[in-house]
Amino acid sequence: MFNVENIRQDFPILSRKVNGQPLVYFDNAATSQTPQQVIDVIVDYYSNYNANIHRGVHSLSQEATDKYEAARHKIQHHFNAEKAHEIILTSGTTHGINLVASGFTSLLSASDEIIVSALEHHSNIVPWQMLCEKTGATLKVIPMNDEGELVMSAFDELLSDNTKLVFVNHISNALGTINPIEDIIKKAHQVGAAVLIDGAQACPHIKPDVQALDVDFYVASAHKMCGPTGVGMLYGKEKWLNKLPPYQGGGEMIAEVTFEKTTYADLPHKFEAGTPNICGGIAFGAAIDYLNSIGFDTIARYENELLDYATKQLLTIEGLKIYGTSQHKTSVISFNIGTIHPYDIGTIVDKLGIAVRTGHHCAQPIMDYYKIPGTIRASFAFYNTKAEIDKLVNALKKAIEMLS
Ligand SMILES: *Cc1c(COP(=O)(O)O)cnc(C)c1O
Repeated sequence: MFNVENIRQDFPILSRKVNGQPLVYFDNAATSQTPQQVIDVIVDYYSNYNANIHRGVHSLSQEATDKYEAARHKIQHHFNAEKAHEIILTSGTTHGINLVASGFTSLLSASDEIIVSALEHHSNIVPWQMLCEKTGATLKVIPMNDEGELVMSAFDELLSDNTKLVFVNHISNALGTINPIEDIIKKAHQVGAAVLIDGAQACPHIKPDVQALDVDFYVASAHKMCGPTGVGMLYGKEKWLNKLPPYQGGGEMIAEVTFEKTTYADLPHKFEAGTPNICGGIAFGAAIDYLNSIGFDTIARYENELLDYATKQLLTIEGLKIYGTSQHKTSVISFNIGTIHPYDIGTIVDKLGIAVRTGHHCAQPIMDYYKIPGTIRASFAFYNTKAEIDKLVNALKKAIEMLS
């Protein structure tokens, strides 16, 4: 049975105070909090077996290597990748996207087209613009509608034999919309294009099955999944990872080095130059274990309850407008109140111990669409409560009083 009060005991940070008030943490779409089970793994690593991996014959190095590779297998099974070496450990979503974008530089020509969506995070826009600059390829954008959904009929029209790549996020971090990626992947494959899905915002809520999706690349960050910052994963189909050149040169990624010629290591090491975030990778595995111990069905059910409750309560506030009203969304609510600047509200609710995000959420094109400078974003995790949502609603009412 899911008991949120028991779950909250796992997260030491949730019992601290901010500005004299109990912390209410509603910025989960930016980064999630870390349970004791993951903190223990981090402490254990540095206390007991900190060593460089894949190199030493000594016991500590072996132990660290075994645990790091065990984490890769956990990630493989979690995402249901066919092979462990299809999982590349990265520093996060941004790194994974850049690795793929950079690799495609040598595979694209000037007549090729890349399709992204209007709902993208900047980290899924800028690398493709850079790729287009280098190759002469053209960037096309799937437009969005007022509900914050992609206009799929427009996607159908953008697809052609020139389409080589399609990049869409699984869930929008700014609005919470769940995009129809199954449909997008199927249609892109019909014209022979490869698909990269940015799963940074989906993986805290959903357990994706990369084989069932038949996706070519899928990226995620550990720090949005109760893991540490600075580590993440790139899944790539073996055939694609073999086609792409290495992203960085250095130790670990080579088979043999002479000044005449260097040959590259096999997957996954070809893409893992230098000493990786060893502790982070192991802790990422622990975070995945933790989330699975609660269960993604349970997480989704409870978070949907929070989303429904918060949506209803927030809409009781006069002048409050929610951006992103798709039927298919996760526990993210972006909103504004009248013409009050989001930053002013964010500052006041912070004084009351409540952490929300204000601004453009690294998705300026979405803000431009709605013709607003930004929003207030409250994003909920399975360790949040309805009582905390009530606190937010009261704090917003107080802020309105002070600002009007
Ligand atoms: C957070 C986020 C990113 C960037 O992730 P990093 O961990 O900062 O690399 C990219 N896309 C989406 C949808 C996100 O939510």
